[in-house]
Amino acid sequence: MKKKKLNIVLFGPPGAGKGTQSQFLIERYGLVHLSTGDLLRAEIKAESPLGLQAQEIIGRGDLVNDDIVIAMIRNKIEAHHAAAGFIFDGFPRTKAQAEALDGMLNSKSEPITAMLALEVPEEELVKRLLNRGKTSQRADDQDEAVIRKRIGEYEQKTAPLKEYYSAQGKYTGIDGVGTIAEITGRLVQAIGE
Ligand code: AMP
Repeated sequence: MKKKKLNIVLFGPPGAGKGTQSQFLIERYGLVHLSTGDLLRAEIKAESPLGLQAQEIIGRGDLVNDDIVIAMIRNKIEAHHAAAGFIFDGFPRTKAQAEALDGMLNSKSEPITAMLALEVPEEELVKRLLNRGKTSQRADDQDEAVIRKRIGEYEQKTAPLKEYYSAQGKYTGIDGVGTIAEITGRLVQAIGE
């Protein structure tokens, strides 16, 4: 029988540590990391038409159009069909994105295994992002107003996805404050494999 794929949504507000933790989890479980933020930043770097459009939106702290990020994820899932599974980092961010992702994965009988939500208080997030901005070159990490806008977008449009995955019995909250290793340990325990 085909081995069941491990498809994890690593969830949480900007600055929760999704990117950092993804690096440990992809190594441990042999997964492919899909970060829509990274994919969009690659488009910006390449100065593609999509990149130029995205740059402005990201710079304001708004969300990029659902159709664009859904198409990006669809292409990547197709390109890595033999993977042991995926870590979705920064996607889905809206209900439309979550429904599209379920549509893609369920049609292949490779559904989301778990949604692990890193929980970090807002003031800690702002502190981490301003700190990251000193070295990350990310324009959206340089300005406290943009950081707070992103957190607001998360609260309004993305946080409700906890209920979406909860209704499927897939949501687990993870304390996202502590050392990197402590938080990795909590995630591994929650994955339980
Ligand atoms: P991130 O690297 O995940 O923090 O994403 C950086 C920025 O890219 C976000 O603030 C959004 O403007 C945009 N972005 C990334 N992923 C998505 C997504 N799934 N939906 C909409 N916008 C996104």
